[in-house]
Amino acid sequence: MDPLRSLILAAAGNDSIRRLVATTPGSRDVVRRFVAGETIGDAVTAVRGLAADGRYATLDYLGEDTTDADQAEHTVRTYLELLDRLHGEGLSARAEVSVKLSAVGQAFDEKLALDNAYRICAAAEQCHTTVTLDMEDHTTTDSTLGILAELRRTWPWVGAVLQSYLRRTEDDAKALAGPDSRVRLCKGAYAEPPEVAHDGADVDLAYVRCANVLLEGDGYPMFATHDPRLVSIVGERARWYGRKQGSYEYQMLYGVRPDEQRRLAADGDTVRVYVPFGEQWYGYLMRRLAERPANTAFFLRALVSR
Ligand code: FAD
Repeated sequence: MDPLRSLILAAAGNDSIRRLVATTPGSRDVVRRFVAGETIGDAVTAVRGLAADGRYATLDYLGEDTTDADQAEHTVRTYLELLDRLHGEGLSARAEVSVKLSAVGQAFDEKLALDNAYRICAAAEQCHTTVTLDMEDHTTTDSTLGILAELRRTWPWVGAVLQSYLRRTEDDAKALAGPDSRVRLCKGAYAEPPEVAHDGADVDLAYVRCANVLLEGDGYPMFATHDPRLVSIVGERARWYGRKQGSYEYQMLYGVRPDEQRRLAADGDTVRVYVPFGEQWYGYLMRRLAERPANTAFFLRALVSR
């Protein structure tokens, strides 16, 4: 792994650095570029801002490494309150929620995670919106797809995430390309061993192969990437498969390539922005910085220029 990336990922677990970032004047604005804020109100405000220029949202309440049932319960209740609030404010057609199963108990009690995900899906149905299960590292893929299958027996619209860096993903894409399915295709964000994952350009090639499978299928593919080459290949392949705009969507992260998000939306494409919020923003922010050194430079410049 690149040394800068390792350094930033090490800082992600360091509490002193977290406190330093949280208290340094000026850092708040920079954090706000990638994280909507700490409260449900902040998340709702972000949705309204995105909706103003035709973008949709999927909201992620930040909270990983949940180690006990109380913490998982807090996460579930936050999602339920968020869904209620979106519905109450007439925004449920503009926003869905993304859920990490690890945040609702998957690491210590898979049955609890299923029950908790069930509660969130039931609330989403009542609020006329949808849920997508985020995908985490490869040791959780089977469990997450198992829980997805259970949930889809009641709600076929529950979305899955597939990561093109995993060697298994083309097969998973074939299995999930049927009617009613919603599949977010991304490259994958975790450090994975070569036995299970492609590297470098092979990840992009696999992305295109999986995109073809999903576009040829009967489901609703969601292409999560900021990569200009992949965005344009997906558009071209969608036309080739006779897919109309609106029968698939692009997804990007909050604060990343916002001009491109607006351009695609203005061209008539559906664009959904992944909006993280919550008190636990620090680990998320560090992962975004590790992904792209240019973001780190931007962050450091903003800190010292204050
Ligand atoms: P990269 O390979 O990171 O970048 C390719 C090119 O894209 C760059 O060369 C540059 O031209 C452009 N680019 C990338 N970042 C920027 C930037 N900040 N500013 C300007 N240009 C940029 N991963 C998971 O493992 N599980 C998930 O559930 C998951 N959900 C996601 C949901 C969404 C909506 C998105 C967008 C990503 C998600 N990811 C998830 C993360 C994903 O797997 C990648 O780690 C992340 O998106 C970076 O990959 P990329 O396709 O954007 O391209």
